[in-house]
Amino acid sequence: MNQKEQTEAPLIHSGEWKIHYDYAVGETATQFFLRLRDQGKIAGKKCPSCQGVLVPPRAFCERCFVQTEEWVDVGPEGTIEAFTIVYEPFDGLPEPPYAVAYVTLDGATTAMANFVRALDLSDPEVAARQLAVGNRVEAVFADAREGAVTDFYYRLM
Ligand SMILES: [Zn+2]
Repeated sequence: MNQKEQTEAPLIHSGEWKIHYDYAVGETATQFFLRLRDQGKIAGKKCPSCQGVLVPPRAFCERCFVQTEEWVDVGPEGTIEAFTIVYEPFDGLPEPPYAVAYVTLDGATTAMANFVRALDLSDPEVAARQLAVGNRVEAVFADAREGAVTDFYYRLM
């Protein structure tokens, strides 16, 4: 390494991306969201090889590399696998504070993230204890659903 490389700081450019886009969610996610919107149910797809129920559903099992075909309704109750409480604002997300948890819904073998609502987040330590891994939640469905993940949220039981 020569002297010049040792003394120059890395060059940094600032930038900002603000992009609106529409995209097709695909056949599997379309079925998932339509079932959520029209029936108020959360469904996964079952792997014919390992029998895992993947939620959110995938067209292929990522462990076995085989196509999934059978739909299985899961929940509405489940177990917290991980959580975070957000106290800083992010573009496109709700005003903080809010909580997000990964939950394995009953009957599923994978966890799905969503907001945890109806929870006092004013004291982070108290809220964190309530959101502890292993605690139980239930999915609560919106009355007016639009076929999006925000059609339901988790609530502590
Ligand atoms: Zn599998």
